[in-house]
Formats: sequence, structure tokens, C-alpha cells
Amino acid sequence: MIKILFPRILDHLSESKKRIMLTYPFVKLFMAGNLEPSIFLDDLKSFEEDLIKKGISKQEIESIKNFAFKEATNRKVFAEINSFRQKSLNSPQDWKNYWRIVGKYDKTKWYEEKEIRVYRMPNVNASVLPIVISGIKELLDELGLDFDIRNFGTHPSIIQQVNLSTMTDGKLNTSKLFLIQFDEDWRKNEKGGKQHADVVIVNQYLADSDSFWGGTIFQYGGMAISVLNQRQRNLNFIKNVAKHETAHLLGLGYHHDQINVRGYPSVRDCLTFHRCSSLIICQRCRDAIVAFWEGIQEGTGKRFFKRIRIIK
Ligand SMILES: [Zn+2]
Ligand SMILES: [Zn+2]
Repeated sequence: MIKILFPRILDHLSESKKRIMLTYPFVKLFMAGNLEPSIFLDDLKSFEEDLIKKGISKQEIESIKNFAFKEATNRKVFAEINSFRQKSLNSPQDWKNYWRIVGKYDKTKWYEEKEIRVYRMPNVNASVLPIVISGIKELLDELGLDFDIRNFGTHPSIIQQVNLSTMTDGKLNTSKLFLIQFDEDWRKNEKGGKQHADVVIVNQYLADSDSFWGGTIFQYGGMAISVLNQRQRNLNFIKNVAKHETAHLLGLGYHHDQINVRGYPSVRDCLTFHRCSSLIICQRCRDAIVAFWEGIQEGTGKRFFKRIRIIK
């Protein structure tokens, strides 16, 4: 969510190698300042083998890493946003202002046409999909956000995308899946597509960690729900997970239990706790998402909230 431009990370490469690097959406995104350095570095790592195959050397990858890291930490603007971030933890008003500004300058595309598509792999029980949809819908409704949630069932395109993103150990490489989806023709107007987010329910572990039930990256409009075999019986918890991941899909990049903001009462539980144990979103997390989308409305001139909003 931090907006910085990274024009220099490829400077030391030959023109042909630069072109190879720029075929990767995550590189383009990062250079345009639309990807957090930590996600960029993760993506760079997952594509390392691929890059080496295409002729980028290990040393070149290493120097891209170093450049990216230096750029991210040295830039004055980065320091400024960091200090703003610190300030945002001082009071509810500063907190809301922070999220509004982040929303105002957001350049993410997937939400422009207000659609979220939900798929399941064929080996996921059909009863799981409506539960995931109910979790997504519940949070959108509570916040008054106006998105169409469309059930795509087991669409052939998703089977192909998941297979392409499945590693030899059978786990799902979510960064790879989200990048494929980010760059798919289904999202491009000029190819007859439409911007949207993709939610995929899979019967396999996520490569990030076997303990994860979900993974989401707002910037890519990508969400994966991992319901390996017996997990599919736990429909109540799946709803918690889907609703929790929706908070991430709506831009909330942290877990409630990771930070403190002065002026908000401390809560015993919240939808955005890492453990996904509650369906109830606290005031602080709600304020963040609402301010963020108000900022997006301001920045884009488009309406994302329903006309009639029930507050609280
Ligand atoms: Zn989470
Ligand atoms: Zn919270």
C-alpha cells in the first residue's frame, strides 16, 4: 500500500534482461510503487528458478534484491509514510485519516468494476462454496460495501490456474496463482474481460504454511481458501476464515492482534485476529476499512458504498 517508485532496480541489467524482468507483473507493480517491498521480495524468491532458466544470473537477482531493499529503506517518502504510520497509532482520528489517505492514493485495479468471483476445485465439496460466499457477503453487508459476488463453481480456467500454481509437493503457491490471475485476460477490458477479484477454494495446503486456512493479497485481488479433506467438515470455521480473509481482500493488511491504537478499547477477540476465532469485527478494524474505502471513493470518484448505509 506504500506508494514509492522504484525506477532503479533494473538499471544494472542489459536491455534484453530488463525486458525479461518486465514480463513479470509483480516487477511492474513494484516499480510503479504498487507493491510492498516484502511482497516483492517474496515473489522474487518464488520466481528465482524461473528467472535463472531465462538467463538472469543468481548475482543479478541478488543485486535486484539489494537495490529493492535499499530503495525501500532509503527513500525519504518511505520514512515519511512510516512516521505517518506511527502517528496513525495515536488516536482514532489519526488512524482514520491514515487509512483515508492510503485509500485515496491507491492504484489497485481489481475493484474498479465491483465484482468478486468465487470458484471451487472439483475435489472440494460443493457445500463449502456457499459457506465461503456467506462469509464474504456478511462482511461486505456489515460495512455497506456494494460488490457483486458471483458463484463460478468449478470453471475450467480455475482448474488450469491452480494446476499451474501447484508445486511438486502438492501445495499451492499462492503468489504464483495470484500473479496468473492478476494478468489473466478475464480481467482485461481490451480482451473482453472485466476487472474483478478471484476467490479459489482448494483441497490442498498453501505453500506459505500448512497451518494456514486462507491467504489473500489485496493488491492482486486474490484469495485462496485451503480446505484439505477433513477441514471441509468444519463449515462454521470455514465461514470465519472466509470473512477474515475478506477483511484482507478489502485492504486490511494486518491482524488485529499485531498492533495497538490509542483511544480504542482493547477487545478480547475480533474478526481480524490471526486465529479467525470470531465473526465480529471490532470498531477499530471497521473504522480502518471504512476510511480506506472512503479514501478510494475520493481518489477514484467512484461509489463503493451502498446509498443507504446502516452505521454499526
Ligand atoms: Zn489473516
Ligand atoms: Zn479488530
